[in-house]
Amino acid sequence: MNTGRIILHLDMDSFYASVEAGEHPELKGKPVVVGADPKGGTGRGVVSTCSYEARACGIHSAMPISRAYNLCPDAIFVRPSFPLYNAASRRIMEILKRRSGKFQQVSIDEAFLDISSSGDFRAAAETALEIRREILEKEGLTCSIGVAPAKIVAKIASDYRKPDGLTVVAPEEVENFLFPLPVGKIPGIGKKTGAELASMDIRTIGDLAGTDIQVLIGRFGRWGLHMHSLAHGADDDEVLEREGYKSASRESTFEQDTDDSRFLAAVLDELADDISQGLKKDGVLWKTATVKVRYQGFLTHTRSRTMDRSTGDSATLRAIARVLLAELLDGRKVRLIGLRASTLEKVDNAQRRIDDFF
Ligand SMILES: [Mg+2]
Repeated sequence: MNTGRIILHLDMDSFYASVEAGEHPELKGKPVVVGADPKGGTGRGVVSTCSYEARACGIHSAMPISRAYNLCPDAIFVRPSFPLYNAASRRIMEILKRRSGKFQQVSIDEAFLDISSSGDFRAAAETALEIRREILEKEGLTCSIGVAPAKIVAKIASDYRKPDGLTVVAPEEVENFLFPLPVGKIPGIGKKTGAELASMDIRTIGDLAGTDIQVLIGRFGRWGLHMHSLAHGADDDEVLEREGYKSASRESTFEQDTDDSRFLAAVLDELADDISQGLKKDGVLWKTATVKVRYQGFLTHTRSRTMDRSTGDSATLRAIARVLLAELLDGRKVRLIGLRASTLEKVDNAQRRIDDFF
């Protein structure tokens, strides 16, 4: 499959935990869990990231913090310091942007870069190595990179050898690379779709690619059609260049669907604080808050509220988010919640009112 494009996907390794270990060298090589306060196993909220040593104990991101505590009470539990992570993220993204103008940041520690101008995959691999070296030298952090002819393949490739991995998939290798992998490696195919596919005897991406398209459409509708083309590595989605940013959002997917509204509110508080800290750092106020809830079975609903005037107040964002969440919860179990602050306004220091940030 030759798209004529060369796409690089970068994903930092256990980003928050690695930044913490950089700041506090005594954490290096230890199981570090960044997230909510475990409160001796009774805490609410989830694991944001954890070090590879903590992963060895069975801990992973999005796991309830109480469960993580029970799995490894001796791990070092750290509250997130978002200003620190945002600053490191910004420096890393600058390193990427210098390599290509076609740059799309997808989360605090993940970005796509269109490096078609490298000419060929050999030169692109060289560029990827240079990026890794530069990030390691300047930030002391490792990342994993995938290079491929399409975004979807590059993303799967960056996850292929983690941590500190580089996986280059040239156009003629796309099917050999994808087909042996489990279908769950395709972003969007979660446990539920995975189970449904398994019931049809479709377990690998190759199985999916080889399934009659009408069968998939009959079962999944348009999503079936999309899944089938993704299985072939066909993804003509371009790397979008963004002029500044128009909104700030965070989301959290749960290991198990939940209808525990106190738990959901606690997670939402964390998302709100994360967004507030990032915006505060950039001197940006927001006016609109949007909460997204994805219920069991992929149905997604959102609800927004726009304020009369812009604010940077984190307590306000928390409070509005909780109201919107309450409006969305209807007893159905929830798989994912997200929060977005938009209608952003950059303020200079002279205009900044003291109460905007407190
Ligand atoms: Mg990462």
